[in-house]
Formats: sequence, C-alpha cells, structure tokens
Amino acid sequence: AKTAGRNTVRFYDPSMQAALDRRSTLENELRHAIKRGEFTLYYQPQFDHAHRLIGAEALLRWQHPRHGLIAPEEFIPISEQTSIILPIGRWVLETACAQLAAWSHGERTRGLMLGVNVSARQFHQPEFVDQVRHVLESSRANPQRLTFELTESMVLDDVPDTIRKISTLKELGMHFSLDDFGTGFSSFSCLTRLSLDQLKIDKSFVLNLPDNGADAAIVTAIITMARSLGLNIIAEGVETEAQRVFLASQGCNAYQGHLFGRPMPVEAFEAFVSGI
Ligand code: C2E
Ligand code: CA
Ligand code: CA
Ligand code: CA
Repeated sequence: AKTAGRNTVRFYDPSMQAALDRRSTLENELRHAIKRGEFTLYYQPQFDHAHRLIGAEALLRWQHPRHGLIAPEEFIPISEQTSIILPIGRWVLETACAQLAAWSHGERTRGLMLGVNVSARQFHQPEFVDQVRHVLESSRANPQRLTFELTESMVLDDVPDTIRKISTLKELGMHFSLDDFGTGFSSFSCLTRLSLDQLKIDKSFVLNLPDNGADAAIVTAIITMARSLGLNIIAEGVETEAQRVFLASQGCNAYQGHLFGRPMPVEAFEAFVSGI
C-alpha cells in the first residue's frame, strides 16, 4: 500500500484489490439478497450422550447467483458492519420459527430443539424482544423449542441489557446458550447472573483433543464449571470418535460436529431424521 495523502491509502496489490472489489460487490448485493430469495438455512444435528437426536442448529447460507454458496464467515461480518444484519437476522428468526412450527407436526421432529444464532446488533436493538414475540405469535412456533445462541462478546457489550432480555424471553419459555465459550472473557460472576441454559464449547478447543494437554485441561475445566452451575454443555466441531470419548469421559452432555452430521438443507435434514 502506498500512502496518497492524509487518510487515503491506495492499494496496488492486485489480489488485495480483488478482495476489496469482492467485498464491495457483496456488500451491495447483500442488500437485495433477502428479497431475491438467496438466503437459506442449513440444519446441523445435535445429539445427546446416548446418541439420541435432540435438536439442530440453524446455519445461514447465501446462495449467490455467480459465486455459488457463500459461507457466513464471509458475509456475516460485512452485514454486521453495515446494519444489513438487522433484516437478515429477522429473516433468520422468521425462517427458523416457521421451520419449528412445521416440525411440530412431524412425529420425529416435534421434540427437536432449534438453535438460532443472534448477532450483537440484532440482540441489543431496543425492539428485539418485541420482534421475537411478534415472530413467535405469527409463526405459532413453540418458544420452548427455541434456543438463542449468544456470544460472550455480545453479552459483555451490555450486561444489564442482556440480563433483562434473557429473563424476559425466558418467561416465554425460550432457552439460551453461550456460543464459542472459552474464546472470550466472560467472568464466572457474569455467567451466574445470566440464567443461561447451556454453554457451547468452541470447536477450537475440541480440534486437538484428546492429545493436546492444554486443550484437554481447558475443556475439563469448562465442563466442571458448567456442571457446577447447573448448565448443559454441548461441544461443537466434534469430528472424531476419540474427541467424543474424551468429552463424554469429562461429563459433556451433548455433541455437534461432522462425526454426527454436517449442516444440511432442510430436505436432507428431514431425510436424515427419518433415517435414524
Ligand atoms: P458458529 O455459530 O460457531 O457455528 C458453528 C460452525 O462450525 C458452523 O460454521 C458449522 O458449519 C461449523 N462446524 C460444525 N461442525 C463442524 C466440525 O465438525 N468441524 C468443523 N471444522 N466445523 C464444524 P458455519 O456454518 O460456516 O458458520 C460460521 C459462523 O457464522 C457461525 O459460527 C456463526 O457465528 C455465524 N452464523 C451462521 N449462521 C448465522 C446466523 O443465522 N446468524 C448469525 N448472526 N450468525 C450466523
Ligand atoms: Ca452457533
Ligand atoms: Ca460456536
Ligand atoms: Ca464459532
């Protein structure tokens, strides 16, 4: 990069320029993606310690007309920086609740929990609770089946607001999970004040289990702490039987990862469920 005057940086690296071009194209196209019907939710199964299917996590995908399937890691950060995340988050909530309502009619799907990722911007907007109430009412989804996945950093953004919103939504029967646990800085006291239902161990700690002693110690400590607080523990990114066995030996209650099933479109997920 070459500085061309105050606060102006010009890039001459062609690959960097290409990345910037893609970003600004995606940013523009994101504004139209909802009405063009380009978003879709994938569902990744979650199992308990006895290998019973207990639910799924809804994971957003963008079916782009030219670039194909784009992963959320690329477009969620762009959406968060530009507030396009607000209508996207609302679309995710509406679609997930509509799916839950549809599943309430299926014998094998009616007992499933559905995890929905909520972004910081979406959660902390003043009208969030009303939005959730409205979507629950119009979709007729059962709030008891719905788990919101929050991250540590968004909780810490505004702890009083988080406490207030969690307790209001829990009165409706909803559940709360703290996602990516261990990667942030939430304190013990903060955890006890939040009335969460579940901690989700981040996949970065699961990846090198059981051989990596430091990760094994962290996971053991997280599980011990979660259990002493009466929280359920789900591990994400479980890819191998050795990882599952280690987690189970430490008292993990639930599992999500490629060992059990990848995120899949709803039709594939329903086929998966009826094939179990
Ligand atoms: P996350 O909430 O931590 O989701 C878990 C990620 O781990 C997903 O990536 C999932 O596909 C991936 N994963 C699951 N099992 C395995 C495994 O065994 N091995 C490995 N290596 N990875 C596994 P994905 O679907 O690409 O989503 C990435 C992130 O994007 C999510 O991380 C979440 O932070 C965000 N995201 C996804 N959907 C939404 C959404 O609807 N709203 C918001 N705000 N964020 C979302
Ligand atoms: Ca998640
Ligand atoms: Ca996670
Ligand atoms: Ca993550």
